[in-house]
Amino acid sequence: MFTSSSNIEELIRCFHLEDSMLRYSSFVPRLYNYCRSLGFEPGRILPSRAFCSDESQGYPTILIAKHFGTFPFNHGRGGAIVATQRHGPFSEHGQDLVIIQASHVGYDPQTGEFGRYRRIHAEHAGHSTSCGKIAGVIARYQREYQFAQGAVLLESCGNSLCVCIDNGLLRANRTEGLFLNLSRLVERDADGEFTPVRTYSTSRSFPASAALQRELGDLRPREGERVPIGDRLKPKMFFFRRELDETPESRDQQELGLISAMPWIVTSPHPLLTAAQINTQAEFDRAFRTAAQAPSFQGKRLLYVSGLNIDISPQVGETFPTTHFVPWAAYLQDRDGRQRILEQPELLMALLAQSEDNPDAVDLETAINVMAESDMVRFDLVAPRN
Ligand SMILES: [Zn+2]
Repeated sequence: MFTSSSNIEELIRCFHLEDSMLRYSSFVPRLYNYCRSLGFEPGRILPSRAFCSDESQGYPTILIAKHFGTFPFNHGRGGAIVATQRHGPFSEHGQDLVIIQASHVGYDPQTGEFGRYRRIHAEHAGHSTSCGKIAGVIARYQREYQFAQGAVLLESCGNSLCVCIDNGLLRANRTEGLFLNLSRLVERDADGEFTPVRTYSTSRSFPASAALQRELGDLRPREGERVPIGDRLKPKMFFFRRELDETPESRDQQELGLISAMPWIVTSPHPLLTAAQINTQAEFDRAFRTAAQAPSFQGKRLLYVSGLNIDISPQVGETFPTTHFVPWAAYLQDRDGRQRILEQPELLMALLAQSEDNPDAVDLETAINVMAESDMVRFDLVAPRN
């Protein structure tokens, strides 16, 4: 969906994390107050969440229930894919509508690692990946990148630097896998062709391009020595192809949203953070259009907020994670059909301009006690009363 590599780099760069983060306990009341400032009517606002199915997403959901006074509608599928076919029923259940869409990533404060989350209810309270769904999607690409890091070698051919490439990576008639951007790595000959200067049993060696030589600085292997390219294999030097089902919201939806950014994900110091960020961006770009066009939302107030949930692993003895929210963008529509997109800085400013105090917040314990103490309903199973 994001086509050129400079587009993807720019998209990753303009998602500001550190200076844009809010604790969930601060984000949700501010969001509620922002809705009020837009004219949303208390008692008629229905929130919805498009979160991953991971239990770590429960704490944000509880806070949404507390501040909006109702449990949110479920708009999310595993990996935080937005179930856009649910717009219809969602719109029927409330007058003024709020969608909160967020991918998530775990964080372990003890190691400073993103993508890890302590499962305090597991037998040994060990760590696992988070988001596990996204980790499952990116694993094959990480393996293919690791292979390529060792299958592209640098060597000296006389006075010039050469790049020796495994024949498997040179096979152009593959339908899937990691493909090298040869024009970034290899110098073309006078006819504009990629012509090997040495041929080995399972690989071929080409003169390195000027761009690659600049990237490598003064690296110059000794004659006969071959140095794996390793981390010097940068995102712009390769891409991935895979046959995926492009039907909207098929089981490949997550991978479809991530595949063009995959070179940046597999080379990121925090692959699951980068992947969750891209997923949030790709899903917002896709799903806000469905919301803007949905007949069921016409004539309604709608605020669709997207962002990233960072789940700080709970320590033993803590009940919930300390989740932080990084807003990314929002789509706003009023009853007259006026539409507006708020980019990250505007959305953050709109939230920060609001108070954290929410006089409409529900005391959940009291609400639960009221339900527990109310008279039990006797069911009449014979026939409905008219
Ligand atoms: Zn997840």
